[in-house]
Amino acid sequence: MYSANFDYYRPTTLNEAVSLLQKHKDAKLLAGGHSLLPAMKLRASAPSALVDIGRISGLSGISKDGGNLKIGALTTHNAVATSGTVKAECGLLAETAAHIGDQQVRNRGTIGGSLAHADPAADYPTALLALGGSVTAMGPKGTRDIAVESFFTGLFSTALAADEVLTMVIVPAYGKSTGTSYMKHRHPASSYAVVGVAAMVMMSGRKCTGARLVVGGATANPVRVKAAEEALNGSAADEAACAAAARHVAGALKDVMSDLYASADYRVHLATVMAKRALMAAVSKAK
Ligand code: FAD
Repeated sequence: MYSANFDYYRPTTLNEAVSLLQKHKDAKLLAGGHSLLPAMKLRASAPSALVDIGRISGLSGISKDGGNLKIGALTTHNAVATSGTVKAECGLLAETAAHIGDQQVRNRGTIGGSLAHADPAADYPTALLALGGSVTAMGPKGTRDIAVESFFTGLFSTALAADEVLTMVIVPAYGKSTGTSYMKHRHPASSYAVVGVAAMVMMSGRKCTGARLVVGGATANPVRVKAAEEALNGSAADEAACAAAARHVAGALKDVMSDLYASADYRVHLATVMAKRALMAAVSKAK
């Protein structure tokens, strides 16, 4: 199907992009176009104007700033997946990016576009919630930081205002005693996550000193399984402890999605099995 008609703008500065969003109330930003254009072709989205931010300089790139990594919104999935800095300082994000779609999708899709789109089956939101980072947004009143915990506000919705541009993603770098893992049960055609699980485990010797476990793909937004994190903390994080922690997954998932790909019960089952595996993989990397 063809999209509805739209006007096309290509600003060269962020200020210009924000002004265009203010002027055209139902305009959409265009980044990699790998979620927006399919939606427009299906007429699930019909903005009257597209504001293409692809030519605004300074919106892509990866740098280390103290204990954090700063990733520009236009940085492609491929750049994140293959970056030596991301692999060394925040391996979970590189591993997650490598799971997204196929090489063509990774070459065009951007981290900012993925987060702003907030698809329940996307991979980055799950990893980001486990990492506990933040995003920076620029709007008419300037810039603000939004913690990832409060960024995703429902199905395909975020804390971004309609006239704000997500400019940067900030994630904490972590040390060698932290192990991480992202696992997903992928849809065989699109690669989107039927269920995705991100695990992060901190070890001191043979003892777990902290953990983060997040399940995505099962509910409108990813969910932290805090009871599992508490169960693992202080334990030896062996197979039995990881299995016991993973058993808390079912209790944390409310309003689980059920669709053609997987029933709600199957998603909960997958999430539980994958949580144990992801925790064990993270523990083994931390050791
Ligand atoms: P766009 O499509 O350009 O924009 C998406 C939305 O975000 C639009 O509403 C746009 O206005 C808004 N937006 C974009 N950038 C910004 C910004 N900087 N600030 C504010 N709003 C912004 N994703 C996965 O996670 N896992 C997968 O396995 C996967 N498989 C895919 C398979 C296929 C065949 C395709 C086509 C896509 C797949 N995707 C998958 C989606 C892909 O990752 C997209 O690239 C991503 O969701 C959107 O990024 P984009 O840069 O293409 O954004």
